[in-house]
Amino acid sequence: MVECDVLVIGAGPSGCVSAAIVHKSGLKVRVVEKEQFPRFVIGESLLPRCMEALEEADFLEVLKAKGFQEKFGAKFVRGESICDFNFTDQHANGYTWTWQVPRAEFDSTLAQAIQERGIPVDFQTSVTAIDFADDYSLIRTLDRDGREESIKARFIIDSSGYGRVIPKLFHLDRRSDQPQRVTFFSHLTDTQRLDFSEPNRITIVSIREGVWVWMIPFADGRTSVGFVGYPEYFSEYQGTPGEILRQLIESDDYVRRRFGEQTFVMEPRKLEGWSVTTDKFYGKGFVLTGNVTEFLDPMFSSGVTLAVVSGARAAHLAVKSLQGLPVDWEEEYMKPTMRGVDVFRTFVKAWYDGTLPTIFFGTRLEHRFKQQICSVLAGYVWDETNPFVVKREKALTQLAEYIRLQAAAEA
Ligand SMILES: Cc1cc2nc3c(=O)[nH]c(=O)nc-3n(C[C@H](O)[C@H](O)[C@H](O)COP(=O)(O)OP(=O)(O)OC[C@H]3O[C@@H](n4cnc5c(N)ncnc54)[C@H](O)[C@@H]3O)c2cc1C
Repeated sequence: MVECDVLVIGAGPSGCVSAAIVHKSGLKVRVVEKEQFPRFVIGESLLPRCMEALEEADFLEVLKAKGFQEKFGAKFVRGESICDFNFTDQHANGYTWTWQVPRAEFDSTLAQAIQERGIPVDFQTSVTAIDFADDYSLIRTLDRDGREESIKARFIIDSSGYGRVIPKLFHLDRRSDQPQRVTFFSHLTDTQRLDFSEPNRITIVSIREGVWVWMIPFADGRTSVGFVGYPEYFSEYQGTPGEILRQLIESDDYVRRRFGEQTFVMEPRKLEGWSVTTDKFYGKGFVLTGNVTEFLDPMFSSGVTLAVVSGARAAHLAVKSLQGLPVDWEEEYMKPTMRGVDVFRTFVKAWYDGTLPTIFFGTRLEHRFKQQICSVLAGYVWDETNPFVVKREKALTQLAEYIRLQAAAEA
């Protein structure tokens, strides 16, 4: 039987960051990954805050060597109105840039880096059952040839993303408070990129309240394009995901001008029902990280940042616990993790209920407020000096109301 101190389930960004940090402590860590890498996963636009966790896990050098598209801000477009955020001009004193990445390549880079440090990664191997005992757990796995194996681990970090291994095995899943949304997306050629201003910047196009498009350019000339909205919006479109995505591209002037003539370089896909959560992100002998905790919505690109920040935090606490030191998982893990998720929850709600579009596309957004909002968009959602973190609901509502009144007075 294979034995280790910490078993990490899943070699996505969260799992790789966790594994790297546990390894640095000298403990024996192993990763089990269901797929063969490179594999596709959605989530291609990162936030500057994630660079801190990637740096802590010593991943920045290998990632820089890949030449991924650098991301210095984000642009929001509605009709003729443009709201452009630059991460150099923000409230927080943190990273001012990050990357836009095809995840297959990004995740493979991280997984290869941990293997090169001597961390075993069992690819094409799924966790199928777990028996928790007092001081260790027995984890049963199944590889693609049907071989079963048992692993004995003192602690489990479940970073299985949409696989949700522990919540599913132990019936911990709970419905999220987010309404169900749908996306149609693909990667396209982008040969006219240079005809557009800021051709490499991520652009979010607001089509109408509750419906929007992401355009995420990659360094190799491809761009990821996805329409997101409520299910009824898409019911008027018929056909395969590719046929529907083509009709959606044609339906909007801004998107059609750039992508109307472009070719799909990945089979277009439909995704829905991604919002799910659990009551507790920890238990005796295990912790949940990344998407297994809670994933809200693709708006604001928070997923990978929350995944790597929670992965790093969980790894430090697991090490502390295995060193025999007391850990208050509620105070040290659950609450800080939820604080970050909840800031994004407020912003996601404010986007869909029209509060944020009012702020973004109103006539005058005061510079100081723009800097504070920019820091949230950069992922600095734990910054207690930012009113759009601490008093976010009030700050957003009052600012939107002020902008509405100002517009009415000027009309
Ligand atoms: C439409 C959409 C758009 C998004 N856009 C963005 C974006 O622009 N930016 C962003 O940051 N986030 C985005 N996200 C979120 C992003 O996809 C996730 O938050 C991110 O991938 C989470 O990383 P992770 O490491 O937690 O999990 P994952 O990246 O999902 O990795 C989990 C790994 O666990 C493995 N696994 C699963 N089950 C098992 C098992 N039984 N045994 C072993 N291994 C297993 C999987 O194969 C996988 O490799 C988006 C999400 C959606 C739905």
